Amino acid sequence: MTRIAFIGLGNMGGGMAANQAKAGHAVSAFDLSAQALEKAVAAGCRAADSAAEAVSDAEVVITMLPAGPHVRAVYANEVLAKAPGSALLIDCSTIDVESARAVAADAKALGFRFADAPVSGGTTAAEGGTLAFMVGCDEADFAAVEATLDPMARAVIRAGDHGAGQAAKICNNMVLGISMIGVCEAFALAEKLGLDPDRFFEIATKSSGQCWSLSNYSPWPGQVPAAPSNRDYEGGFATAMMLKDLKLAQEAAAKSGAATPMGAQAEGMYALFDRLGGGGKDFSAILQLFRGNLP
Ligand code: NAD
Repeated sequence: MTRIAFIGLGNMGGGMAANQAKAGHAVSAFDLSAQALEKAVAAGCRAADSAAEAVSDAEVVITMLPAGPHVRAVYANEVLAKAPGSALLIDCSTIDVESARAVAADAKALGFRFADAPVSGGTTAAEGGTLAFMVGCDEADFAAVEATLDPMARAVIRAGDHGAGQAAKICNNMVLGISMIGVCEAFALAEKLGLDPDRFFEIATKSSGQCWSLSNYSPWPGQVPAAPSNRDYEGGFATAMMLKDLKLAQEAAAKSGAATPMGAQAEGMYALFDRLGGGGKDFSAILQLFRGNLP
């Protein structure tokens, strides 16, 4: 039994914290949202009054927050200020590489072990304990990070040193953002050509058009039971979050000199969908834009 502080109990963090509690760990949980905190308590966590209180006697701190500024603030004001120096700190949020490296440097200067460990897999995998973690940490710390993440994971892979987990994540999500748009365009064309969308799904999932966005997360309702398309695109991975990740990829591409024209196109499409009101919907809802339906 490990004392774990879990900060950020949203779409992803809620299921992840629940799996740590289910594995028998003592999870002290905190979120700014009272509703998120209540859910975590129902799943076996203890509610803390603040992030500072949650981390105060933690052996492990796990954070799952929206973006870089949240992570920088929570670590600077609460985690690094209040957690015991022996605590292992793991940030699972998707953030920019610079923020991850800056937080790691601050943590290391104070003697903490730190890992950036963003995830792939979505809310279903967060609930099912089947996320893929991409880890940036000192090699010597990886065994402890891997053991800690195990109740939430189907795979834990060390990408390299601090920041490497975030680098792997933004590259992976650029693939995801682009592939979802490809799948949506194909559904929109199939519909115009008079194809039955379910028949197209059956064919493409057995053909070379097969990919995760189609087979595991189809944007067309009724094809993949767990997909957000069956819940009016609620929950899941918000368009605004996908847009954030594609912006991170474009910033990284500009800084490093990589050519990523399809990533830039995808960023523009999600920005338009966000501007039209789709930011809170799962990113697969962009299908409706291609079908001419506004959110
Ligand atoms: P979310 O908005 O549902 O959850 C974030 C939670 O953090 C919210 O409940 C919010 O209240 C809380 N929070 C914000 N600031 C806080 C603070 N200072 N103290 C305590 N709590 C605070 O987002 P999510 O979908 O769970 O995503 C979390 C991270 O995981 C993001 O970086 C996202 O890019 C990444 N991610 C999401 C998915 C997905 O499918 N949703 C998949 C992979 C990665």
